[in-house]
Amino acid sequence: MKVRTRFAPSPTGLLHIGGARTALFSWLYARKTGGDFILRIEDTDLERSTQASIDAILEAMDWLDLDYDEGPFYQTQRFERYREVIQQLLDSGHAYKCYCSKEELDALREAQMARKEKPRYDGRWRDSTATPPEGVQPVIRFKNPLDGVVEVDDLVRGKITIANAELDDLIIARSDGVPTYNLCVVVDDIDMQVTHVIRGDDHINNTPRQINIMRALGATLPKFAHVPMILGNDGQRLSKRHGAVGVMQYRDDGYLPEALLNYLVRLGWSHGDQEVFSREELIQFFEIEDINRAPSNFSPDKLLWLNQHYIKTLPAERIAEELQWHLQQQGLDISKGPAITEVIEAQRERAKTLVELVAASRYFYEPISSYDEAGVKKQVSPDTPHYLQVVAEHLAQLTTWDANSIHQAIVQGCEQLQVKLGKVGPALRLATTGGTSSPSLEVTLKLLGQETTLKRISDFIEFVKNSSSSA
Ligand code: GLU
Repeated sequence: MKVRTRFAPSPTGLLHIGGARTALFSWLYARKTGGDFILRIEDTDLERSTQASIDAILEAMDWLDLDYDEGPFYQTQRFERYREVIQQLLDSGHAYKCYCSKEELDALREAQMARKEKPRYDGRWRDSTATPPEGVQPVIRFKNPLDGVVEVDDLVRGKITIANAELDDLIIARSDGVPTYNLCVVVDDIDMQVTHVIRGDDHINNTPRQINIMRALGATLPKFAHVPMILGNDGQRLSKRHGAVGVMQYRDDGYLPEALLNYLVRLGWSHGDQEVFSREELIQFFEIEDINRAPSNFSPDKLLWLNQHYIKTLPAERIAEELQWHLQQQGLDISKGPAITEVIEAQRERAKTLVELVAASRYFYEPISSYDEAGVKKQVSPDTPHYLQVVAEHLAQLTTWDANSIHQAIVQGCEQLQVKLGKVGPALRLATTGGTSSPSLEVTLKLLGQETTLKRISDFIEFVKNSSSSA
């Protein structure tokens, strides 16, 4: 049978790290087996679901490149179908109407708590032949089996056994007719022919209930895999306190999706000691059974390390796709500067994030607005304008503007001046980049181009002269 997995987020907030990892596991398993991956938006909670969250989830799936074969399906568009199934359960005697008022249920709960019992619905309308009270809109409850056990062979957690006596008759439709969460999930998983339900272990308590409803509907059961949660490095459940939890915040902070996916997959899954995986390797090696049973701890340092690794090693063209977004965000006009791929090649050893890479590359795309003050103090002497003038003359004579010729021109300038390169280089860097660190001078100048380089040197000479005359 063809494997079909799904990711079924509730659009009540951003796509979080935990959700993204669940999506990744589901996606990987479908890709590994040549199956289908379905995206289903569980938006039945009308008060908490928002279009902004839906958009954020779709954007994050897209950014992570977790492509889906079907969907997005929306539960709010399937109410008719849920009503149909609820009716089917009523007709087959697997569901019934319950007319209990809120007061009655409250009294029941209080009495049970007074007896130190677990509060639960006592099934009083289950087989009732009493005349329904006037004017009360009933809820519909599922007739959970009274005896026996539900056994789940969870692919991550192993065998889980729950006694039916533990489960009460859950509401599948509210009094206003709106179907409840567990019913919708079951109907969808059946209709969408999901074979593997991979989801967070916060849903583990729903599983036996859902299995009972599936059985009542005569459906084939999917396999279940409950993925443990992600903890912060203090052992507490991952939350905002530990840094960003929303996936797209990582893009904003300069992470590559490759790094985040690689990080997430290792967070709770392993393949020997291997840390770095290409997408193809992940698809090849992934097995649900290798997902750890224990919760995993989120480590921002390791994510940063992976990000740096990918910045260093991915093809520059690929990084350029991501970097372009950052440059635009920063309002930098890339049409007026060197090719981004060349800037990436020049800068990639020095940046851990794309935000750092952009910050270190601004001078390629915008005029210099100020010079590093400490650098000027340290590197500029009364001779600097003359030194730069001479080097500029050599640079101006070049007919080929490549790193080697630029290097030669600078060396010749220094020879003419009879000074060491160390007397000229830092000032030249200040003049052309505004700062004290950049790739090698010849690479920096090559990327800036001859015209910009010469213009920046002459501007800097002016600046130094002006500052010394006003000092
Ligand atoms: N909508 C649920 C959630 O976002 C997931 C339900 C499921 O995967 O079965 O937590």
